[in-house]
Amino acid sequence: MSRRRFSAVFRVLSPAVFATCAASGAVVFSMTATATSVAGPPLPASEPHSYANPQMLRVTGVALDLKVDFTHKRLSGSVDLQIEHRDPAARELMLDTRDLQIARVETSSDGKAWKPAAFTLGERDRVLGARLAIQTPLDAQRVRVHYQTVPEASGLQWLAPVQTAGKKQPYLFTQSQAIHARSWIPLQDTPLVRMPYTARITAPKGLRAVMSAEMQDRPGADGAWTFSMPQPIPSYLIALAVGDIAFRSTGERTGVYAEPSMLERAAYEFAETEKTMALAEALYGPYRWGRYDLLILPPSFPYGGMENPRLTFVTPSVITGDRKLVSLITHELSHSWSGNLVTNATWSDFWLNEGFTTYLTNRLNEAQFGSEFANMERVLGAQDLRKSVEQAEIADRSLLRATPAADPDEVFSSIPYERGNLFLSWLESRYGRAEFDRFVRGWFDGHAFQSATTAQFRAYLSEQLIRRLPGKASEAQVDEWMNSPELPAFALMPQSDAFTAVDAQRRQWLDGKLAIGALPAADWAVQQWQYFLDTMPATVTVAQLQALDRQFGLSRSGNQIIGSSWLRLAIARNDRSVWPAAERYLQSVGRMHLIEPVYRELSKTDDGRRYAEQVYAKARAGYHPIAQQEVQRLLGKKAS
Ligand SMILES: [Zn+2]
Repeated sequence: MSRRRFSAVFRVLSPAVFATCAASGAVVFSMTATATSVAGPPLPASEPHSYANPQMLRVTGVALDLKVDFTHKRLSGSVDLQIEHRDPAARELMLDTRDLQIARVETSSDGKAWKPAAFTLGERDRVLGARLAIQTPLDAQRVRVHYQTVPEASGLQWLAPVQTAGKKQPYLFTQSQAIHARSWIPLQDTPLVRMPYTARITAPKGLRAVMSAEMQDRPGADGAWTFSMPQPIPSYLIALAVGDIAFRSTGERTGVYAEPSMLERAAYEFAETEKTMALAEALYGPYRWGRYDLLILPPSFPYGGMENPRLTFVTPSVITGDRKLVSLITHELSHSWSGNLVTNATWSDFWLNEGFTTYLTNRLNEAQFGSEFANMERVLGAQDLRKSVEQAEIADRSLLRATPAADPDEVFSSIPYERGNLFLSWLESRYGRAEFDRFVRGWFDGHAFQSATTAQFRAYLSEQLIRRLPGKASEAQVDEWMNSPELPAFALMPQSDAFTAVDAQRRQWLDGKLAIGALPAADWAVQQWQYFLDTMPATVTVAQLQALDRQFGLSRSGNQIIGSSWLRLAIARNDRSVWPAAERYLQSVGRMHLIEPVYRELSKTDDGRRYAEQVYAKARAGYHPIAQQEVQRLLGKKAS
C-alpha cells in the first residue's frame, strides 16, 4: 500500500517473541552463498492480530462462492477451506471473522460427502472481531462455512451510482489490508498463512467482477465470474471489485480496468507500466505473477494504491493527464517483490513490506526518470518521516515497535516506509550498489512466496553482508536502526539540488527581492511545488499567500497533491479565504493521505473544527469506512 502522498498505514507492533530472537548476532544456521535455501529463526506460531492457530490446523486453500447483492449491500454464499492437520491432537479450527453472520458449517474428508460441524462464534472484539471455532475431526480435509456479510462490513465499500464516475451503476470494492479480509471471508486472517484461492462470483447482469487473481474474460453459462490465484498469498491480498468496469490493454502483460468514462485517460496515464516492469525485473528478478493490471477506482478509495497481486487498485487522484504521478504505480508494482512475493509475517514486520518497497521505488524512479527526480522523492520522504516521528509515540518511532497496539489501522505513519528506506539506503552506501543489489535479489529469491520476520531478515543480513564482508556495518548499528526511537546519527539524509534552487527563489520572493510573477514555477515539477508549499517559513503573510493563489490558481488546482499541500498551508496560516475551496476539495477527494492533513489543520482552532464538522457531515457518504474512522478520530480530538 502506498503511503506518502498515497495512503495510510498501520501501527506496527512487536510481539514479545521478537524481543528474544531479534538479537541475531548469535544466530547460527546453514545457508548457501547463493541464498537459494534460506533458514533462520522459525516463524512465530501465532500473532496478536489473529485468532488463528495455524501451527495446529492450517488453511492451505480457499474457494469462495459468493453472490453480490447491491440491494441489501450483502455478499452471501460459502467458503471452502482446505485444511492441513499439523498437530494430530488438534480438533478445533480457529478462524477470524468480523461482523459475519454464520449460517452453518460442514466438514468433509473427501470433498464429496459433507457432515454438519459444531461451531462457536466468540464475543466480538472491537479490533479483532469474533473468533470462529469449528469442531474439526482428524479425517476432515475441508471445512465449508455458509455465511453472509453485513452492510457495514469494514472491508467492503458499497457505492451508490451517484458515487461513481458513470453515475448509472452501483460499485463494490474490497480493502482487506490489514485485517479486514475477515469482514467478508471467515479465514485465517494473518500474513503468517499463505494459500492459493479460487472464486466464483455471481454479480448482477451488466456488471463486471474483477479480482486479484487470474480471470476469465466472460462469465460462464450460469452468469458467474470465475477466478484462480494459483500462487500462495496472504489473506490481506484477496481482493474483489464489481461495477461498470471496462478493460483496455496497454502492453504485453499490462492493462487498465476502469469505468468506461475513465478508461481512455487511465490507459494514457499508465501506458508505460510495461517499461517499469522491465526495469524492475532487471534489478530484482522475474515478475512471477503473470499479468500486471491496474484497476482505477472511484474517488472514495481511501488509499493511493493497494498492491493486490495481478491487479493493483489505484486512486483516480493520480490521473492528471501528464503522467507526473506514475511513481505511485512504481510503488505498487515494487510490491510484486517486497510484500507480495516476500511478505511481512506479522504486522510488526511491516517495514519489510513498505521499507523495501520505498527503497525499490526510489531505485526504479532513478532508473526511469533520473537521479534528480528520485532525489526529490527521497527528500519528500524524509520530510514525511520527520512529521510522522513528531506525531508518533516514542515506542512507535523505531522500525520494530516496542509496544503492542490494538488496531493496525489506527495510526498514520511514514516510519516503516521512510525509516526502512533510509536503513536500506545506508546499507547500500556501506556495501556498494552492486553488492547490495545482489543481496536484495537474494532475499527475494530465497524467500519467494514465503512470509518472513525481521529476525529472519537479520539472520540473512548477518550471513550475507555483515560477517562475509567485515568492517563495513555492525550488528550494533543495525540494532540502532531497528530499536532506537532516534534516527541513527550516521543515517545518510537525502539531498536535492532542485529543492535547493526552490529554497533560494522562495527566499528572494519572501524578502521582496523577486516579483511573484518571476518565480519560475511554470517549470516546477509536482515535487517542487509540494516542497515549496510544505516547507514554507512561518513568517509568510496572509497577503503573500493570497497573492500566490491569485498568481497560480492554487485553490482551483487540478492536481490533488498540490491542492492538499496548498490548503494545509493556507489554513495553518489562518487564511480563511480558502475555506470554501477546502470544502469543495474535501467533498471530491476520498484519499486519506490527502484529506487528513486538511482536516487536521482545520481542527486546530474551535472555529475551524466546527467548520470541518459541517463539511464532514456533507462529505462523509463519499468516504470509505476506514477514512470515516480516521476523520472522526481527528475531529474528536482536542486541538493540539
Ligand atoms: Zn506500499
